[in-house]
Amino acid sequence: MANCLFCKIASGEIPAKIVYQDDHVVAFEDINPQAPTHILVVPKRHIATLNDLTHDDDQLLGELTRRAAAIARDRGIESGGYRTVFNTNRDAGQTVFHIHLHLLGGRSMQWPPG
Ligand code: AMP
Ligand code: ZN
Repeated sequence: MANCLFCKIASGEIPAKIVYQDDHVVAFEDINPQAPTHILVVPKRHIATLNDLTHDDDQLLGELTRRAAAIARDRGIESGGYRTVFNTNRDAGQTVFHIHLHLLGGRSMQWPPG
């Protein structure tokens, strides 16, 4: 989608510190990390928010989730633990309207989130 930051990262038009990619998924370091590991796992296809998902996206969402777990394993944080988050719309603080799964880890976290 034109003018979408994460579509541009997915296509290579804007650089990012890419840690994984395949035909459907790209994962890169968050530019403003909130934990020692903070990676965004993103579908290459534009989907604005979780509210826009359809049945056709079920497999893709599974791929995002399993990729986050695989990256957590690669980073050695799988047994210590990590957090995975999709922010949706204003109250959750979504700022980039192309869905992305935050993978955060490497420190202990509070619950509930702020
Ligand atoms: P959210 O608030 O859930 O929409 O998260 C958007 C995330 O994208 C934030 O954590 C930002 O730090 C991150 N971000 C924004 N621009 C970039 C960029 N160019 N490269 C990597 N991460 C980015
Ligand atoms: Zn997009």
